[in-house]
Amino acid sequence: MKNDNLLEVTCAICGSSSLQYSQVLSGFNEMLKYFLESTSLDKDTLKLLVQECPFCRYCAPDLATVMPGVNEIICTESYRLIADNIGIPALIRRYMLYS
Ligand SMILES: [Zn+2]
Repeated sequence: MKNDNLLEVTCAICGSSSLQYSQVLSGFNEMLKYFLESTSLDKDTLKLLVQECPFCRYCAPDLATVMPGVNEIICTESYRLIADNIGIPALIRRYMLYS
């Protein structure tokens, strides 16, 4: 399950490239299945499941893909408030942005 390989990924929102841990699960259904079947999820594993673009802060299991409507969500004030809130731990913030 765990894969520590870094890959260069191009963000589907802003077009910037960044190094991300390689995607270990493809899509929400596979991620949900993993969550439901796992007996333990450590912090390091959780970091691998959702990538975060360091430029536009888009968060998804695969930054190279985007679902319809996500562009508009990322531009909202509420999204930016969460993205810029350093009071929220980084991993929790990443999952909040992905949701
Ligand atoms: Zn981006």
